[in-house]
Amino acid sequence: MENKFCIYNTLSRTVETVIPNEDGKIAMYTCGPTVYHYAHIGNLRSYIMEDILEKALRYIGYDVKRVMNITDVGHLSSDADTGEDKMLAGAKREHKTVMDVARFYTDAFFSDCKKLNIKRPDVVEPATNCIPEFIHMISVLLEKGYAYQAGGNVYFDTSRLEDYFVFSSAVEKEQLQVGVRDDVDEDPNKRNKNDFVLWFTKSKFEDQALKWESPWGTGYPGWHIECSCISMKHLGGRMDIHCGGVDNIFPHHTNEIAQSEAYLGHKWCNYWFHVHHLNDKSGKMSKSKGDFLTVSLLEEKGYDPLVYRLFCLQSHYRKPLEFSYEVLDNMTAAYEKLVKRIAELNGEGETDAEAFADYRNRFMEYLCSDLNTSMAVTVIYDLLKADINDKTKLALIADFDQVLSLNLTEAAARLKEAGSGVDAELESYIKDRIAERAAAKKEKDFARADAIRAELLDRGIAIKDTREGTVWEKIS
Ligand SMILES: [Zn+2]
Repeated sequence: MENKFCIYNTLSRTVETVIPNEDGKIAMYTCGPTVYHYAHIGNLRSYIMEDILEKALRYIGYDVKRVMNITDVGHLSSDADTGEDKMLAGAKREHKTVMDVARFYTDAFFSDCKKLNIKRPDVVEPATNCIPEFIHMISVLLEKGYAYQAGGNVYFDTSRLEDYFVFSSAVEKEQLQVGVRDDVDEDPNKRNKNDFVLWFTKSKFEDQALKWESPWGTGYPGWHIECSCISMKHLGGRMDIHCGGVDNIFPHHTNEIAQSEAYLGHKWCNYWFHVHHLNDKSGKMSKSKGDFLTVSLLEEKGYDPLVYRLFCLQSHYRKPLEFSYEVLDNMTAAYEKLVKRIAELNGEGETDAEAFADYRNRFMEYLCSDLNTSMAVTVIYDLLKADINDKTKLALIADFDQVLSLNLTEAAARLKEAGSGVDAELESYIKDRIAERAAAKKEKDFARADAIRAELLDRGIAIKDTREGTVWEKIS
């Protein structure tokens, strides 16, 4: 591959060149949503950036396979295996069954994704589809001595690993080992503080709606096991890039690595891509704080979801991003201005192959530099100013939009149509008449050619013959 794609790897804490396990191919996994509520736009920031990552990899020529789970069981309200199952809480809140809640919010999630131009991953697998896979992996972990049963549950034994805190520095490790969170009730069945549940049978959640038979009794899986199993089911035992929000680093991704590598006996995933928080002025935004910000709420307030996408692209994924309606207003103005400038371009002339390749390389270089999306967007502004013909500019913008997915060409076409007061039907009528007139002129039937010109003028369309051919404009 000609272009070296570099991203920051949370595992090595450095920007690294991505070297896939299989040449030209990328196996990529994304932790999917827990479908008990609408997605918060803060979570959707991660999905937007992961979408850009996937599209950038495809753009530079990789064959990408991307897998995502849907968490529809086992995700408790606290990451420390306590609290209520989020799905059950959602069902109680809405007086629906857990499966109805899961279906409803899975659809809502993908509807939001569609509005944000987030491509659906190649494989989307709900956790409840994979119970036999979970049971198999847990059985192997027990056989290998990495798991134990206590109080009816099956736990992963973190003390069996040489380095459980793979993402953490020495100082952080100490804090994680010592620190006990005040809001968490310690589970007395755990041998070590950081051990986590692989399978629940007995717990305080006796009214758990979804339960399955297992060798350890009727119960349900822990949250972390699903990502290990679902990724291996579709991507095999070696993965290139695993994505998520920074929230997932500990304990979720730490636990995923612990159980996957204990199960496999070798390294599982080479690159870990994490997207930072969306904040407001007072700090991290969440479902429980202030306005519950969803894509629908933004739409109700009159914002185009793609403006939110542009807002995310204007900042680096490794920096916290501060949200405010004011910033979104500015972004709306920037988006509209950009679309207007694109609408002013006319698609005449020949594409300049050299300029096309030059700008395409610049765009690609930014994507390859730890996914520098804000600089990639500036390439559009540079080329709009550049001394190259409009046809080339339009071709480049359409090309870049394969990755940026801001519907720039479509929005410009809509604006043009609205501005010219000509609908698609009239436009095609005009083009037909112009072609007919050209044919008449070729046959030296000037009377017919003039009649067509007059006919168009009657409908408020003036035509003009130029060196590049006949052009038209609406005059009334
Ligand atoms: Zn996960």
